[in-house]
Amino acid sequence: LHGVVALDGPSGTGKTTVARRLAAELGAGYLDTGAMYRVVTLAVLQAGADPHDADAVVALARSVRLDVATDPDRPSVRLDGADVGESIRTPQVDAAVSAVSAVPEVRELLVQRQRTLIGDVAARGGGIVVDGRDIGTAVVPDAPLKVFLTASAAVRAARRGAQDTAAGREADQAAVLASVERRDRLDSSRAASPLRPADDAVEFDTSDLSIDQVLVALTELAGT
Ligand code: C5P
Repeated sequence: LHGVVALDGPSGTGKTTVARRLAAELGAGYLDTGAMYRVVTLAVLQAGADPHDADAVVALARSVRLDVATDPDRPSVRLDGADVGESIRTPQVDAAVSAVSAVPEVRELLVQRQRTLIGDVAARGGGIVVDGRDIGTAVVPDAPLKVFLTASAAVRAARRGAQDTAAGREADQAAVLASVERRDRLDSSRAASPLRPADDAVEFDTSDLSIDQVLVALTELAGT
């Protein structure tokens, strides 16, 4: 699909920051697919349902209203009309999101929504940077540019810890590292669209790179 940049990789690679800035720089849209899985997870937790109860999770995923804005300067997600941009980034959601996103029907539902959102932007002649785990392998397998960002577990945990601190939450580095590693293990080992680079993805190890350096490299790739 013309104008789609698929940006995949585990958490803490700088993916989301890079994706937003790249989209702004290219004058493109931005879609945070992780936020969509997080919203469904928040709905499950708010309903008091068990994230491992696939039937309950699917029922909730089908019944909630999920609105997503694709402006990189003001990305927003709404659950039944309420802005949940902050409440989807808690340790409770982090801990439950992999179970929710492993449910095939949830993925089908959200992938369909993602393709519609991407199609809407493309129909207006625009490009879009799509941030996720399975964008290059499953959501837009014909994306002209696929990037897979990686970083060492320690670096990823440090970046996630810094985000928590910036958001006013106390960051226990060992707990953050354990949570990041657990989520990546679950995301990589699930049966439905596991986290892995597409065969034709460009892989970048961002461990020793600043966000600015990654951005320069990606802008160059996107321009070619
Ligand atoms: O990117 P973020 O950390 O917000 O993603 C949260 C979770 O959503 C991931 O750990 C993964 O379980 C799930 N996810 C997914 N497929 C995507 C994006 C996110 O399964 N395309």
